[in-house]
Amino acid sequence: MKNERVEFLDNPCIQRIEEKCIHCGVCKKTCDSIQGIGPNCIKCGQCILSCPTGALVPKYDYQTILNYLNDTDYTLVISMAPAARVSLTKELNIKNDNPTKKVVGILKRLGFDYVYDVAVGADLTTIEEATEFVERLERNNLPLMTSCCPSWKKYAIENGLDKYVSSTKSPIKMQGYLIKNYLSKFINFDKKLINVMLMPCVSKKEEIIDSDDIDYVITTRELLYMINESKIDLETVCECEFDDLVGKATSSGIIYGTSGGVLSSVVRSAYYLKNHKEMILNYDRNNLNNEQLSVENEYDFGDRVIKTLRVSTMNELKKVDIHNYDLIEVMACPGGCINGGGQPLSASGSNMDDRLRKANDLMDVANSSKVFDSFRSEEIDNVYKYDIGIPGGKNAQKKLHDN
Ligand code: SF4
Ligand code: SF4
Ligand code: SF4
Repeated sequence: MKNERVEFLDNPCIQRIEEKCIHCGVCKKTCDSIQGIGPNCIKCGQCILSCPTGALVPKYDYQTILNYLNDTDYTLVISMAPAARVSLTKELNIKNDNPTKKVVGILKRLGFDYVYDVAVGADLTTIEEATEFVERLERNNLPLMTSCCPSWKKYAIENGLDKYVSSTKSPIKMQGYLIKNYLSKFINFDKKLINVMLMPCVSKKEEIIDSDDIDYVITTRELLYMINESKIDLETVCECEFDDLVGKATSSGIIYGTSGGVLSSVVRSAYYLKNHKEMILNYDRNNLNNEQLSVENEYDFGDRVIKTLRVSTMNELKKVDIHNYDLIEVMACPGGCINGGGQPLSASGSNMDDRLRKANDLMDVANSSKVFDSFRSEEIDNVYKYDIGIPGGKNAQKKLHDN
């Protein structure tokens, strides 16, 4: 019997290998239970993780990247998301004290000329979004809803919620800007630059379609195929640091990969901007507990209490009255990007242990950063000093915000 399946007409992020499909209907059931959006696919990729035969896969771009890596006419730059990093560490069975350095070494061995951290882009998102929140707080124009997840943004537009969504660019768009525009002030890219983002997410492939700054998004799964096809001997790969200028992220930028991370980072920076002192709030593992899909909190901002909500999946979002909150983080994937549709299949959303392990590993990566808050980042300070001017200013609005 043929069960109803999800359909992907002209989908730039996901494809189905028809000969592998057994018409079991699991993809449709997954979509209904997580997003409940009927035929309006938001490209979260959760159905990919649930497909029992591997018939659903991301649209692949990795062969194109392999071709570029073999062509000496190009400079290849890649920026890696923290959520992709924690998956790779497990999939490649990396046991070093600092697995991130080993993954950077693998990317260099593959032939990437420069390797950066998307979490620096996330630090920039934090500063701009916190500035926007403080400004909206003063005008009582709330709630402000986060803008990092393109699947959620698509849902917001289709459901009349886009007026609440922050105009601040997402971390990969920030990173794309930094690499194509800011870095060229310091580095002479004498060959044509190909700017690649390594993400746990399939939806980001659509997000960059109109971008002048980003050329390709590849998923964590695609990178594993690249490593496999390149026959790299992992034992002989050296540990490497991220390259300078946009390679050192704060803990705040790194925790974007788990549900609650964006919210915590923006709350802390907004508190600092408003009160000129740091907030006593730890990013502890309970605070960012990945198991719960919806968590509310209150923060004393001095002259008023800020009510926040972090929520993942559209079905969970539908249960809440957004007007009860001042600041809301929304992620389409259950538990956030660590459970994104571009992650390896062992990262299935049905495997809660795997999700919690990755959230835990992400906290370890965040704790290894020497700097805690985005407003303490020397890299971000320099971006404002040498390029943007002041957070939320005219230049920032033009370069770091959508619209
Ligand atoms: S879950 Fe996979 S195998 Fe089952 S109907 Fe969907 S695409 Fe086909
Ligand atoms: S990608 Fe997400 S929204 Fe689209 S069909 Fe799959 S589960 Fe549903
Ligand atoms: S939660 Fe993260 S991985 Fe999932 S769709 Fe949104 S941005 Fe992509």
